Amino acid sequence: MTDFPSPSDRSKSAKSVAFALFRPVLFAIGIIALALGGLVLTHRSNPEIATAQKQLPAPPATAPAPIVLVDSEPAPPVTSAELKDGAFKGLELKGFQMKPPDPATDPEPPASDRYELTLRLERGDTVEKMLADIDVPDADRKQIAEKLQTLLKKKKLATGETIELLMQTMPEQPDAPRVLSLSVRPQPEREYIVSRKDDGSYDAEEKIYKVSPRIVRVEGERDGSLQQSGIKAGAPSAAMVEFIRAMSYDVDFQRELKQGQKFTVLLEQLVTSDGLVTHPGRLLAGELRLLKRTVTVIRFRPQGGADGFYNPQGESVVRSFLRTPMDASKLTSRFGMREHPILGFSALHAGVDFSAASGTPILAAGTGKVAMAGYNGGYGLYVKLQHTQDVATAYAHMSRLGPGIKPGVSVRQGQVIGFVGSTGMSTGPHLHYEFHRGGRAVNPLAQKFAMRATVGGKDLARFQALSRQYLNQMKNAPAAADVNAKPPPPKTSQAPKDPATPQVARGD
Ligand SMILES: [Zn+2]
Repeated sequence: MTDFPSPSDRSKSAKSVAFALFRPVLFAIGIIALALGGLVLTHRSNPEIATAQKQLPAPPATAPAPIVLVDSEPAPPVTSAELKDGAFKGLELKGFQMKPPDPATDPEPPASDRYELTLRLERGDTVEKMLADIDVPDADRKQIAEKLQTLLKKKKLATGETIELLMQTMPEQPDAPRVLSLSVRPQPEREYIVSRKDDGSYDAEEKIYKVSPRIVRVEGERDGSLQQSGIKAGAPSAAMVEFIRAMSYDVDFQRELKQGQKFTVLLEQLVTSDGLVTHPGRLLAGELRLLKRTVTVIRFRPQGGADGFYNPQGESVVRSFLRTPMDASKLTSRFGMREHPILGFSALHAGVDFSAASGTPILAAGTGKVAMAGYNGGYGLYVKLQHTQDVATAYAHMSRLGPGIKPGVSVRQGQVIGFVGSTGMSTGPHLHYEFHRGGRAVNPLAQKFAMRATVGGKDLARFQALSRQYLNQMKNAPAAADVNAKPPPPKTSQAPKDPATPQVARGD
């Protein structure tokens, strides 16, 4: 360090002068932005404005028979953006959303007007209150609320729930609009519809949408963290976490994964028959293209077992033992004969050393029982885990023990058993890690034997078929971005005659 002011200090004072000069300008911009924001808010929360702007073409003056919503017209951009966002996020945006008038509409005011309204239940709101706010006559709204309640049974609609209305203004009663239909879809697979009959009474119907799986692929390129790159490419966060975890047994992310490297994940989404995604995607398989190799993982559930990830050879990605019992570390001394740094003579180094900052958590390399935990001569603060009758691991020079670590307790793979330190005979903070087989120390880095479960027996043929299928789909399945952006088939306000046979999903 020196006594001179650093260049960064000087530039800092220059910056603050510039800021002082611009402050009035920034302030003015802020005021304008606030004013504009206020205007937009008032507009959005005024249902009358929404009503006025949502004039739609009038039907033929005669029969009000099958009512067809204008959803079949080309969707405005806002709607398709919502679809891309998925079924749930879309709700937040909706508020009082409106469709632009059909360009084909006759500019002359029609004799009777139909228009759509999308309203949202506010805190403490009821459907009846909402209808009262838009001047629906008392008798109508009582009937509608009652019919809806019989469908919902004891269930209550949540605050923020979107209510879709098809309205009609009658020329003789311009201040008392009619509700032609009201629909609400509290779950993607369930829609409740109340619609007006010719005689002025209301009917209630429940529409069930079939939910079925759809396999899609997401391809991406590492730009920043692998997880963020996946989310940016359209994969759900949970699937990326699973993907990274499945890869982490085999891949050294720091050394092998560079920016720009490509990956593919295969997902199973759940989609309703009208195209709403109810589950953004469960990870089925994934592929990561590294500098020198490609690592592939396949989800598989062996008979009587749980879901796990396997490589295409049918070996579980999970090793019985972690490669390194720490997250961030550097191998500094290997197993074998060496000059001892303190004692000064040649001796067997019975383990491997990983250097890491003091306090770095040390993880149990495998599941087992604590055999020793405490000070142990030159080893300093030391933990020994017994994994099987034959196999044990030991961790030395810790600064302190992990929570609850004492002889006799069970530990799981990956549990924190202590923290890096420099206790005992040590020249600086590091972990000395030993692997014991049959009571003898062996090289931990050479222990690849029998450490993975493999698919076998009756499972093998099934695994191989599934693995071939997934590898093929990772190249050929439709891209998630394409299918998610596809607009759903046009809906009608008429519930299908038989709710058990809803519309067939559009092919992919
Ligand atoms: Zn050592």
